[in-house]
Amino acid sequence: MKKHNFNAGPSILPREVIEKTAQAVLDFNNSGLSILEISHRAKDFQPVVDEAVALFKELLNIPEGYSVLFLGGGASLQFCMVPFNLLEKKAAYVNTGTWASKALKEAKGFGEAIEVASSKDSNFNYIPKNYVIPADVDYFHITTNNTIFGTELLKDLDSPVPLVADMSSDIFSRPVDVSKYALIYGGAQKNLAPAGLTFVIVKNDILGKVSRHIPSMLDYKIHIENGSMFNTPPVLPIYSALETLRWLKSNGGIVEMEKQNIAKAKLLYDEIDRNKLFVGTAALEDRSRMNICFVMNPEYAELEADFQKFATERGMVGIKGHRSVGGFRASTYNALPIESVQALVDCMQEFEKLH
Ligand SMILES: *Cc1c(COP(=O)(O)O)cnc(C)c1O
Repeated sequence: MKKHNFNAGPSILPREVIEKTAQAVLDFNNSGLSILEISHRAKDFQPVVDEAVALFKELLNIPEGYSVLFLGGGASLQFCMVPFNLLEKKAAYVNTGTWASKALKEAKGFGEAIEVASSKDSNFNYIPKNYVIPADVDYFHITTNNTIFGTELLKDLDSPVPLVADMSSDIFSRPVDVSKYALIYGGAQKNLAPAGLTFVIVKNDILGKVSRHIPSMLDYKIHIENGSMFNTPPVLPIYSALETLRWLKSNGGIVEMEKQNIAKAKLLYDEIDRNKLFVGTAALEDRSRMNICFVMNPEYAELEADFQKFATERGMVGIKGHRSVGGFRASTYNALPIESVQALVDCMQEFEKLH
C-alpha cells in the first residue's frame, strides 16, 4: 500500500534525493568508492560543500556579507551557541512553544535573557503580536515555525537589534528576506536532509563582539574560517542536502514551493473546518503551513483512537499529534505531494460518513 508520510521530523524527502543518496552510498561520482568511505577533504567532496553553499545563497537570495555553515549538534546546540557568540549582557526572546522555551532556557546561562512575550497562557496556540522589541539587547530571538503547536510567523519582522531565528521547520518553504536577520539556524531533518546536519546563516559583522572565551568548536568565526571543515562535518547529510537543493532549484525554487505549500495547507485546513468531527488547534491567523494540528471535535472525542486506526490502515503515517497538543498533526513539508494531503482529506471524509 502507498504510504503517505506526514512525519514531523525526521521527515519526508523527495524520492529523487533518496535515490541519489543511495547511489552515492554505493558509488560516489563513479569513483568506485562509497561516499561513506572518503575523506571530507577529498577533492571530490569539496565541490559538494561549495555547490550546497552556493545553492543556499542563490535559493534564499542571501546578500553579501553572510556565511553559510554546515555543522553538527542539531538546532538544540544552536540554543547555546547563539548566546555563547552573541550575548554580552542581555538578550530578548519570544516564547512560542517547546523549542522557543528551550532556546530561552539555554540563553539564561550566559547573561540576562528576557521573555518579551509568550503564548504559554493558551498552550502556545497563537503567535504573540503586541510587544515591543527592546532596543538595549544584544539580539532578539524568534522561532518562525512552531513544529509542535502548528503556528507560524509568515512575515519577516523589522527589528532594531540583530534578529536571530530558529527556522528548523520552515526553511525553504517560503521566500525570506535574509537581510532582516542577523542569524538563521535550523536542524536539517525537517525540510532539507536526513538528521545529523545543522545549517547556520550568519551575518559576518555581528561576530567577535563578546568578551568571553569561546571554545573553538562553538565559535562561528572558526567554522567560517575553516569553511565548515574545522572538524569532520556530517558528510552524508550534506550530500543529501545538496540533492534537495538541486531538486528545489529544478522544481521552481522557493516561490513555487510556497505556492504548493499554500495549496496543500488550504486543502487540509478547509477540510478540518468543514468536517464536523475535527477542529483545528491553532489561531486562524497563525496557522502553520508546515505542521497542521487538529483534534477531535469534543462531541466526538471518543473517536480519536478509531480515526487513528482508520487512517493508518489507509496508509497515513506520522499523523499522531505531539503529546503536548494531542489529537493529530500532519506535517506538510516541501517534499510531501498534494496527492498525499488529498488522501488524508479523503480519509477524513470517509470517516465522517461512518459517524
Ligand atoms: C526539531 C526542532 C528543533 C530541535 O532540533 P534538533 O536538531 O533535534 O536539535 C528545534 N527547533 C525547532 C523549531 C524544531 O522543529
